[in-house]
Amino acid sequence: MRIHHLNTGTMCPIGQRFVNGTGGLFQRGRMVCHCLLVESNHGLVLVDTGIGLDDIADPSRLGRKWVRQTTPRLDPAETAARQVKALGFSPDDVRHLLLTHLDRDHAGGVADFPKARVHVHRREYEMAVTRQIAPPAGRYVPAQWRHGPDWALHDGGGENWFGFAGVRALGDREPDILMIPLPGHTLGHCAIAVRDGGRWLLHAGDAYFHHAQLDARPRIPLVLGMFQRRVDMDRAARVQNQERLRALKAAHGDMVTIVNSHDPVDYEACRCGRHAPAAAA
Ligand SMILES: [Zn+2]
Repeated sequence: MRIHHLNTGTMCPIGQRFVNGTGGLFQRGRMVCHCLLVESNHGLVLVDTGIGLDDIADPSRLGRKWVRQTTPRLDPAETAARQVKALGFSPDDVRHLLLTHLDRDHAGGVADFPKARVHVHRREYEMAVTRQIAPPAGRYVPAQWRHGPDWALHDGGGENWFGFAGVRALGDREPDILMIPLPGHTLGHCAIAVRDGGRWLLHAGDAYFHHAQLDARPRIPLVLGMFQRRVDMDRAARVQNQERLRALKAAHGDMVTIVNSHDPVDYEACRCGRHAPAAAA
């Protein structure tokens, strides 16, 4: 299994020290949209899609307030579609999108991969797409799936993965990629585990935002912590699942590398191979 780490959307909110934990008050911070492109037995699998080409063509659909606060770079070269091409593949080669959840900075590129099945947790679908469960006002951008993708819905899993309940989203032929329900940030939020040689890589999406949150004495920069609370859908579940991730890192940090979506430190460590010695890119 070869794993490529892609940043599919740089965001530059003001107040670097309170966003990244270092730097100046008035400098711009840096956040990434960390996606994984996995060369699997089932063809190419993309974990999250970041900001897509249609978002960049019409940034107003992302919401004026969101764009003002996060200040995304909106560079087409950063999209997953363009990076897949730059790696020598076609977007049509991407057969599966595994989405941690359907927030706009994760689902923006769904339409850029028309041949892919789109895997999400059933509760996320029922909230964001069919609205059987009412989402918080303005939370999702339905235009991102207006084209009617080929959805694959998953419920709770039965596969014991280090004490978490995993789902073999791609079936039994691909036991090395699991979706792991990890609600809190949204009700259908999942982490995605991918076997990486002798280790596992766990993409934890927005289950946490800053690498120091998984330390024995967890910390988070001020503004990032405020943001985390503001976007919680189920705070108790988020806090509890973060605690489970912390315990996983403490007990199995030699076997499992945990990364999140937006922390540039997690992302750069993966790119440089510091996090995951067996990673190919
Ligand atoms: Zn996010």
